Amino acid sequence: PSVFSAIEMAPRDPILGITEAFNADTNPAKINLGVGVYYDDNGKVPLLSCVQKAENILIEQPAPRTYLPIEGLAAYDKAVQELVFGADSAVVQERRAITVQALGGTGALKLGADFLKRFSPSSDVYISDPSWENHRALFESAGFKVNNYTYYDAATHGVNFEGMLASLKAMPQGAVVVLHACCHNPTGADLTQQQWDQVIDAVVTRGLIPFLDMAYQGFGAGIAEDGAVVRRFAATGVPLLVSNSFSKSFSLYGERVGALSVVAASADEAARLLSQLKRVVRTNYSNPPVHGGKVVATVLATPELRQLWEDELAAMRVRIKETRDTFVKKLKEKAPQHDFEFVRQQVGMFSYSGLTKEQVAKLREQSIYAVDTGRICVAALNSRNLDTVVDAIAKVL
Ligand code: PLP
Repeated sequence: PSVFSAIEMAPRDPILGITEAFNADTNPAKINLGVGVYYDDNGKVPLLSCVQKAENILIEQPAPRTYLPIEGLAAYDKAVQELVFGADSAVVQERRAITVQALGGTGALKLGADFLKRFSPSSDVYISDPSWENHRALFESAGFKVNNYTYYDAATHGVNFEGMLASLKAMPQGAVVVLHACCHNPTGADLTQQQWDQVIDAVVTRGLIPFLDMAYQGFGAGIAEDGAVVRRFAATGVPLLVSNSFSKSFSLYGERVGALSVVAASADEAARLLSQLKRVVRTNYSNPPVHGGKVVATVLATPELRQLWEDELAAMRVRIKETRDTFVKKLKEKAPQHDFEFVRQQVGMFSYSGLTKEQVAKLREQSIYAVDTGRICVAALNSRNLDTVVDAIAKVL
């Protein structure tokens, strides 16, 4: 037998598994609500105008494809850092923040995880219960023990905040706590600003290491509003990691554009951190790809394109909010005995709909695909499929 002969089949990715089943379904009216992607009202992944315009600018200035620096395109790192922390923030002004281009939000999380494993090897990692399904696997693959902290309350369809706070207060000093900066995936349940105050206070007093994951900036209340929590954490002066992604906010999924930022206590400490982070990059993939980073840097640094991006992102955000409203309204007509009002309070692309595994299975018999947990992607609903989905849900309730 060879080294490979005893290897077992790995479990299927739960979300990608839904897409496989969906693709195999021959019903032309099939609907996939299991995805984590923004679709427009025509059911298409948009190509943003700001992206097309930036690409046109880049095509007019053909450039050789040399390697980028290990930490990525300088203009990108600078623009992202200013977006995430604010150009006028103390951490940027005092050069205490470092930002490296990463392969999407996932790549940023993995860089941060590998980095933390080197310098805080005995920390445990805590993720929300539930969380994005890759958080656990990602930190485990970096060598950490991963625990849950209390988060979702199925009874209220919101956050069990007392439980969350109790979890934070029970964590050992030096534990890494992964927090969704906005638009919690998968539940759509976010903290209020007052609740964030208490979370920040608990993190600081217990000496925890916050790792903010911001994959949906601009899909909640707005770009600045969604990013506010990052700035507030940064202002406390504690060591902080932030992963951010442009997959959704620029609709650049396959280009793999994201970044990891780390906040240090001083400019000198930041320079040392950067040198070590570059080693993590170097030993993983050497340096990041060029195209997506150039597109995002061009948009962020060109005032007209940036305005266009903000408008296009606002349109996506508004469409999701309106879809939530219509969804709730129509469900009220079709299933008046059930209260779906909470869907309106949820934030971002997703909704924990409250549908059970059995109900999700019944929806699938009608060629409507959702995650077993009841998570649906609100951004996959549109004016053509909404009635079908609402009728189907009303039937399985
Ligand atoms: N973090 C969260 C919470 C996510 O939902 C996602 C994407 O679904 C990511 C990170 C990863 O983002 P990317 O696709 O840019 O790797």
